[in-house]
Amino acid sequence: MSSSITIRNLVKDFGSTPVLRSIDIDIHEGEFLALVGPSGCGKSTLLRMIAGLESITGGEIRLGDELINDVAPRDRNIAMVFQNYALYPHMTVAQNLGFALQMQGTDRKEIDQRVRQAADILGLDQLLGRRPKQLSGGQRQRVAMGRAIVRRPEAFLFDEPLSNLDAKLRVQMRTEIKALHQRLGTTTVYVTHDQVEAMTMADRIVVLKDGVVEQVGAPLALYDQPRNAFVAGFIGSPA
Ligand code: ADP
Ligand code: MG
Repeated sequence: MSSSITIRNLVKDFGSTPVLRSIDIDIHEGEFLALVGPSGCGKSTLLRMIAGLESITGGEIRLGDELINDVAPRDRNIAMVFQNYALYPHMTVAQNLGFALQMQGTDRKEIDQRVRQAADILGLDQLLGRRPKQLSGGQRQRVAMGRAIVRRPEAFLFDEPLSNLDAKLRVQMRTEIKALHQRLGTTTVYVTHDQVEAMTMADRIVVLKDGVVEQVGAPLALYDQPRNAFVAGFIGSPA
Protein backbone atom coordinates (compact mmCIF):
# COMPACT_ATOMS: atom_id res chain seq x y z
CA MET A 1 0.00 0.00 0.00
CA SER A 2 1.36 3.35 -1.10
CA SER A 3 0.66 6.65 0.67
CA SER A 4 0.81 10.36 0.03
CA ILE A 5 3.21 12.50 2.04
CA THR A 6 2.05 15.97 3.04
CA ILE A 7 4.57 18.52 4.26
CA ARG A 8 3.25 21.71 5.83
CA ASN A 9 5.19 24.72 7.10
CA LEU A 10 8.17 22.50 7.79
CA VAL A 11 11.04 24.29 9.51
CA LYS A 12 14.47 23.01 10.52
CA ASP A 13 17.14 24.88 12.44
CA PHE A 14 20.47 23.41 13.43
CA GLY A 15 21.18 25.45 16.54
CA SER A 16 20.58 29.03 15.45
CA THR A 17 21.16 28.23 11.76
CA PRO A 18 17.96 27.95 9.68
CA VAL A 19 18.26 25.09 7.17
CA LEU A 20 14.66 24.61 5.99
CA ARG A 21 12.29 27.60 6.00
CA SER A 22 8.60 26.83 5.89
CA ILE A 23 8.50 24.05 3.32
CA ASP A 24 5.13 23.02 1.78
CA ILE A 25 5.12 19.99 -0.52
CA ASP A 26 2.32 17.59 -1.49
CA ILE A 27 3.78 14.28 -2.58
CA HIS A 28 1.02 12.36 -4.30
CA GLU A 29 0.29 8.71 -3.67
CA GLY A 30 2.33 6.59 -6.07
CA GLU A 31 4.25 9.43 -7.69
CA PHE A 32 7.98 9.64 -8.33
CA LEU A 33 9.09 13.01 -6.99
CA ALA A 34 12.65 14.23 -7.49
CA LEU A 35 14.10 16.69 -5.01
CA VAL A 36 16.94 18.71 -6.56
CA GLY A 37 19.12 21.64 -5.61
CA PRO A 38 22.73 22.55 -4.99
CA SER A 39 24.86 20.93 -2.33
CA GLY A 40 23.94 22.15 1.17
CA CYS A 41 20.44 23.37 0.27
CA GLY A 42 18.79 20.93 2.69
CA LYS A 43 17.79 17.92 0.56
CA SER A 44 19.17 15.24 2.88
CA THR A 45 17.85 17.02 5.94
CA LEU A 46 14.33 17.08 4.47
CA LEU A 47 14.53 13.39 3.55
CA ARG A 48 15.86 12.48 6.99
CA MET A 49 12.97 14.39 8.60
CA ILE A 50 10.47 12.39 6.53
CA ALA A 51 12.22 9.20 7.68
CA GLY A 52 12.17 10.40 11.29
CA LEU A 53 15.96 10.51 11.58
CA GLU A 54 16.07 14.26 12.23
CA SER A 55 13.96 16.24 14.71
CA ILE A 56 11.37 18.73 13.48
CA THR A 57 11.78 22.37 14.54
CA GLY A 58 8.31 23.33 13.29
CA GLY A 59 5.48 22.25 11.02
CA GLU A 60 3.90 18.93 10.07
CA ILE A 61 4.60 15.77 8.12
CA ARG A 62 1.73 13.40 7.28
CA LEU A 63 1.91 9.92 5.80
CA GLY A 64 -1.52 9.44 4.26
CA ASP A 65 -3.82 10.96 6.89
CA GLU A 66 -1.54 10.22 9.81
CA LEU A 67 0.52 12.95 11.46
CA ILE A 68 3.92 11.28 11.90
CA ASN A 69 5.94 14.07 13.58
CA ASP A 70 6.23 12.06 16.78
CA VAL A 71 6.24 8.54 15.30
CA ALA A 72 9.55 6.69 15.82
CA PRO A 73 11.48 5.88 12.60
CA ARG A 74 10.94 2.13 12.92
CA ASP A 75 7.20 2.66 13.29
CA ARG A 76 6.95 4.73 10.09
CA ASN A 77 6.28 2.45 7.18
CA ILE A 78 8.89 4.27 5.10
CA ALA A 79 12.13 2.81 3.73
CA MET A 80 15.23 4.86 2.99
CA VAL A 81 18.01 3.93 0.55
CA PHE A 82 21.24 5.77 1.33
CA GLN A 83 24.12 6.89 -0.85
CA ASN A 84 26.59 4.84 1.18
CA TYR A 85 24.56 1.67 1.31
CA ALA A 86 26.00 -0.12 4.31
CA LEU A 87 25.42 -3.83 3.81
CA TYR A 88 26.31 -6.20 6.65
CA PRO A 89 29.65 -7.63 5.45
CA HIS A 90 29.45 -10.92 7.37
CA MET A 91 25.94 -11.74 6.12
CA THR A 92 24.92 -13.28 2.81
CA VAL A 93 22.71 -11.36 0.38
CA ALA A 94 19.70 -13.38 1.59
CA GLN A 95 20.50 -12.57 5.22
CA ASN A 96 21.01 -8.89 4.38
CA LEU A 97 17.62 -8.82 2.67
CA GLY A 98 15.80 -10.58 5.50
CA PHE A 99 17.47 -8.96 8.50
CA ALA A 100 15.04 -6.08 9.10
CA LEU A 101 12.07 -8.45 8.92
CA GLN A 102 13.78 -10.84 11.32
CA MET A 103 14.26 -7.96 13.77
CA GLN A 104 10.54 -7.16 13.46
CA GLY A 105 9.73 -10.74 14.42
CA THR A 106 8.29 -11.70 11.03
CA ASP A 107 8.01 -15.49 10.73
CA ARG A 108 10.59 -17.45 8.75
CA LYS A 109 8.26 -18.53 5.98
CA GLU A 110 7.09 -14.98 5.33
CA ILE A 111 10.70 -13.71 5.36
CA ASP A 112 11.80 -16.37 2.84
CA GLN A 113 8.89 -15.53 0.58
CA ARG A 114 9.53 -11.78 0.64
CA VAL A 115 13.29 -12.25 0.14
CA ARG A 116 12.64 -14.49 -2.88
CA GLN A 117 10.20 -11.95 -4.32
CA ALA A 118 12.65 -9.05 -3.87
CA ALA A 119 15.46 -11.15 -5.37
CA ASP A 120 13.24 -11.94 -8.34
CA ILE A 121 12.29 -8.29 -8.90
CA LEU A 122 15.92 -7.14 -8.70
CA GLY A 123 17.56 -10.07 -10.50
CA LEU A 124 19.45 -11.22 -7.41
CA ASP A 125 18.27 -14.86 -7.48
CA GLN A 126 21.70 -16.24 -8.34
CA LEU A 127 23.48 -14.11 -5.74
CA LEU A 128 21.56 -14.92 -2.56
CA GLY A 129 24.41 -16.97 -1.07
CA ARG A 130 27.14 -14.40 -1.73
CA ARG A 131 28.60 -11.91 0.69
CA PRO A 132 28.78 -8.16 -0.10
CA LYS A 133 32.50 -8.22 -0.93
CA GLN A 134 31.76 -10.76 -3.69
CA LEU A 135 29.38 -8.30 -5.40
CA SER A 136 29.88 -5.50 -7.92
CA GLY A 137 28.83 -1.92 -7.12
CA GLY A 138 25.61 -2.27 -9.07
CA GLN A 139 24.77 -5.56 -7.37
CA ARG A 140 25.35 -4.00 -3.95
CA GLN A 141 23.05 -1.15 -4.89
CA ARG A 142 20.39 -3.70 -5.86
CA VAL A 143 20.74 -5.43 -2.48
CA ALA A 144 20.34 -2.06 -0.76
CA MET A 145 17.12 -1.51 -2.72
CA GLY A 146 16.05 -5.07 -1.93
CA ARG A 147 16.36 -4.34 1.78
CA ALA A 148 13.88 -1.51 1.29
CA ILE A 149 11.49 -3.55 -0.89
CA VAL A 150 11.11 -6.50 1.52
CA ARG A 151 9.57 -4.16 4.08
CA ARG A 152 6.76 -3.32 1.62
CA PRO A 153 6.83 0.31 2.70
CA GLU A 154 4.24 2.99 1.97
CA ALA A 155 7.04 5.18 0.58
CA PHE A 156 10.64 4.95 -0.60
CA LEU A 157 13.19 7.67 0.09
CA PHE A 158 16.37 7.70 -1.99
CA ASP A 159 19.31 9.95 -1.12
CA GLU A 160 21.58 10.22 -4.18
CA PRO A 161 21.68 6.42 -4.49
CA LEU A 162 23.74 6.38 -7.68
CA SER A 163 26.43 8.93 -6.91
CA ASN A 164 29.07 6.31 -6.10
CA LEU A 165 28.59 4.41 -9.36
CA ASP A 166 30.37 4.97 -12.65
CA ALA A 167 28.56 6.77 -15.48
CA LYS A 168 27.53 3.68 -17.42
CA LEU A 169 26.14 1.88 -14.39
CA ARG A 170 24.36 5.05 -13.32
CA VAL A 171 22.39 5.12 -16.55
CA GLN A 172 21.52 1.44 -16.19
CA MET A 173 20.41 1.81 -12.56
CA ARG A 174 18.24 4.80 -13.47
CA THR A 175 16.30 2.55 -15.80
CA GLU A 176 16.10 -0.18 -13.16
CA ILE A 177 14.84 2.15 -10.43
CA LYS A 178 12.22 3.55 -12.83
CA ALA A 179 11.11 0.04 -13.78
CA LEU A 180 10.91 -0.86 -10.11
CA HIS A 181 8.72 2.16 -9.47
CA GLN A 182 6.46 1.27 -12.39
CA ARG A 183 6.12 -2.26 -11.07
CA LEU A 184 5.47 -1.47 -7.41
CA GLY A 185 3.81 1.95 -7.72
CA THR A 186 5.22 3.01 -4.36
CA THR A 187 5.40 6.74 -3.57
CA THR A 188 9.03 7.72 -4.08
CA VAL A 189 11.05 10.78 -3.07
CA TYR A 190 14.34 10.76 -4.94
CA VAL A 191 17.09 13.21 -4.00
CA THR A 192 19.67 13.97 -6.63
CA HIS A 193 21.90 16.81 -7.72
CA ASP A 194 21.94 15.33 -11.23
CA GLN A 195 19.46 17.25 -13.40
CA VAL A 196 19.39 14.55 -16.07
CA GLU A 197 18.43 11.96 -13.49
CA ALA A 198 15.62 14.18 -12.24
CA MET A 199 14.39 15.09 -15.73
CA THR A 200 14.33 11.50 -16.99
CA MET A 201 13.02 9.73 -13.88
CA ALA A 202 10.57 12.01 -12.11
CA ASP A 203 6.85 12.66 -12.51
CA ARG A 204 7.46 16.00 -10.80
CA ILE A 205 10.50 17.90 -9.60
CA VAL A 206 10.90 20.09 -6.52
CA VAL A 207 13.71 22.64 -6.82
CA LEU A 208 15.17 23.61 -3.46
CA LYS A 209 17.55 26.50 -2.81
CA ASP A 210 18.82 27.58 0.61
CA GLY A 211 16.03 25.71 2.36
CA VAL A 212 13.25 27.28 0.27
CA VAL A 213 11.14 25.66 -2.46
CA GLU A 214 11.82 27.64 -5.64
CA GLN A 215 9.47 25.74 -7.95
CA VAL A 216 7.49 22.49 -8.22
CA GLY A 217 6.39 21.01 -11.52
CA ALA A 218 6.61 18.33 -14.16
CA PRO A 219 10.06 18.11 -15.82
CA LEU A 220 8.86 19.72 -19.04
CA ALA A 221 7.01 22.51 -17.23
CA LEU A 222 10.16 23.43 -15.34
CA TYR A 223 12.17 23.25 -18.51
CA ASP A 224 9.75 25.36 -20.55
CA GLN A 225 8.61 27.77 -17.85
CA PRO A 226 11.25 28.16 -15.17
CA ARG A 227 10.03 30.65 -12.61
CA ASN A 228 13.36 32.40 -12.25
CA ALA A 229 16.96 32.44 -13.41
CA PHE A 230 18.03 30.03 -10.70
CA VAL A 231 15.60 27.30 -11.80
CA ALA A 232 16.45 27.96 -15.45
CA GLY A 233 20.15 27.66 -14.71
CA PHE A 234 19.77 24.59 -12.58
CA ILE A 235 17.46 22.63 -14.88
CA GLY A 236 19.01 23.87 -18.10
CA SER A 237 22.67 23.31 -17.30
CA PRO A 238 24.41 20.06 -18.22
CA ALA A 239 24.98 17.55 -15.41
P1 ADP B 1 22.14 18.64 0.92
O1 ADP B 1 21.73 17.22 1.17
O2 ADP B 1 21.19 19.41 0.06
O3 ADP B 1 23.54 18.74 0.36
P2 ADP B 1 22.02 18.87 3.81
O4 ADP B 1 20.60 18.64 4.12
O5 ADP B 1 22.95 17.74 4.04
O6 ADP B 1 22.16 19.43 2.31
O7 ADP B 1 22.54 20.11 4.65
C1 ADP B 1 21.86 21.34 4.67
C2 ADP B 1 22.59 22.29 5.60
O8 ADP B 1 22.48 21.85 6.94
C3 ADP B 1 24.08 22.42 5.31
O9 ADP B 1 24.46 23.74 5.52
C4 ADP B 1 24.70 21.51 6.35
O10 ADP B 1 25.99 21.94 6.66
C5 ADP B 1 23.76 21.66 7.51
N1 ADP B 1 23.70 20.46 8.37
C6 ADP B 1 23.32 19.23 7.98
N2 ADP B 1 23.34 18.36 9.01
C7 ADP B 1 23.74 19.08 10.09
C8 ADP B 1 23.95 18.76 11.48
N3 ADP B 1 23.74 17.51 11.95
N4 ADP B 1 24.36 19.75 12.29
C9 ADP B 1 24.55 21.02 11.82
N5 ADP B 1 24.36 21.37 10.54
C10 ADP B 1 23.96 20.44 9.68
MG1 MG C 1 22.72 15.41 0.80
